[in-house]
Amino acid sequence: MRRGKKMYDIHIKCLYAITMDKEKRIFPKGSILIKDGIIEYIGKEVKAKAKKTIEGEKYIALPGLINCHTHVYQSLIEGIGYDMHFNPWNILFLLPLVSHIGPEHASASAEIAALEMIKSGTTAFSDHWYLHTDFSNIDKVAQVFYQSGLRNHSVFGFLNESFAGWKKNTDTEMVRSEKALMDAARSFIKNWHKKGRTIVALGPGSTEDVSRDFFKKIIVLAKEMDVSVVTHIAGWVEIVSTSLKKYKMRDLEYAHSLGFTGKNAIAIHCVWLNAEEMNIIANTETKVVHCPVANMHLGYGIAPISEMFFRGITVGLGTDGAASYTYDMFEIGKTAAMLGKVKNLDAEAITAEKVLEMLTIDGAKVLGMDSFTGSIEKGKRADIILVDLDNPHLMLGGKPVPKIVYSAKGNDVVTSIIDGKIIMENRKVLTMDEKSILVKAKRMQDDLIEKAGEKTKILLRTNWPTRGKASWRMN
Ligand SMILES: [Zn+2]
Repeated sequence: MRRGKKMYDIHIKCLYAITMDKEKRIFPKGSILIKDGIIEYIGKEVKAKAKKTIEGEKYIALPGLINCHTHVYQSLIEGIGYDMHFNPWNILFLLPLVSHIGPEHASASAEIAALEMIKSGTTAFSDHWYLHTDFSNIDKVAQVFYQSGLRNHSVFGFLNESFAGWKKNTDTEMVRSEKALMDAARSFIKNWHKKGRTIVALGPGSTEDVSRDFFKKIIVLAKEMDVSVVTHIAGWVEIVSTSLKKYKMRDLEYAHSLGFTGKNAIAIHCVWLNAEEMNIIANTETKVVHCPVANMHLGYGIAPISEMFFRGITVGLGTDGAASYTYDMFEIGKTAAMLGKVKNLDAEAITAEKVLEMLTIDGAKVLGMDSFTGSIEKGKRADIILVDLDNPHLMLGGKPVPKIVYSAKGNDVVTSIIDGKIIMENRKVLTMDEKSILVKAKRMQDDLIEKAGEKTKILLRTNWPTRGKASWRMN
């Protein structure tokens, strides 16, 4: 079949095109035609004129992966404090470093994270940035995202009471006043919301990091601006007991009482929800983000996501910050499946198909982007990745979806197209200078360690822990 005389921008030919559309169609030997950033054709292979044709007879095309929750600033601190719970990790290891983050560190962290995301097949993500040690940090980060070509949901974070329960001021401010935060949030929305591929959202750190009144004001502002509101809910079990003590309500119940829940609300983690709270989430159409690797690493627990599916709740997947040690969403997806199966003693609890939904179209629903991304469909923006099957671990004999979900890795993605533009081609990122980013990130990490002081340096020099619990983790 020939598609007339029209000149398309890109013609992708592939072994399989996995659409993730409503019918979940998969086209063997497919064609995708893109013009002006829009998918104009998806279906059986056709002949067409195009400025660029990708001969992908060994490629699977699928919608770009969506990381629904991360904190890019933590990409500079991986390997510094690990194998421990949120606290002491946060207080002993994270705080002395990140309290010194300035605009240059902020942009270096965003660059290295963006690079890793592009190189592992993510095309859209949500970053929760609450490190306003300098109010221009978040602006620098937004500039990097803009430059990278990635589609992003940039969450302006708020901490006016504490940083993860930690209240004392550091020598650089992390917990800021209500007024300063509100002014900065309004200006961030004005400067960045709907600019290019950026959508802004508002994100109180958690119910313990933000005062009751301020939490309500943030929700009002989000409604006024018609942006989503994002917070960490019932991730670690301690926050539920804190909430019960303080408010006589569980964490989600309390957030619900403030008006948090609703179609535009995104609840991160949701590990410790009871049945009633899951019903609240379902009835209000609140969205959930599951971060299985970070939850496992920090010993948070296992979020009951198959119970959520049973109630019709939309769940996306996220890496969260440094605790996952990766931006590779293939790894997150596979872990979500394996963890769900073992938790429920049921191999069907979370299937390969469900994982791919969470990684693509459901993730887009969580971030409010499903009208234009999350699937390869006529009329949607072209956010597409190509996975090279010409690898021993990807030899295709059976169905393509389980192979993609259970065997593919981020570095099997050879080409990435976002908004109709080729962002990575044959593993070369075209929007960012990889070498200089790596050099700068290392320099910025060294600078943070230097600023954090002797205690952090001693921690980095400690020996291999040989017996039982390593004392340096507990000091
Ligand atoms: Zn988080």
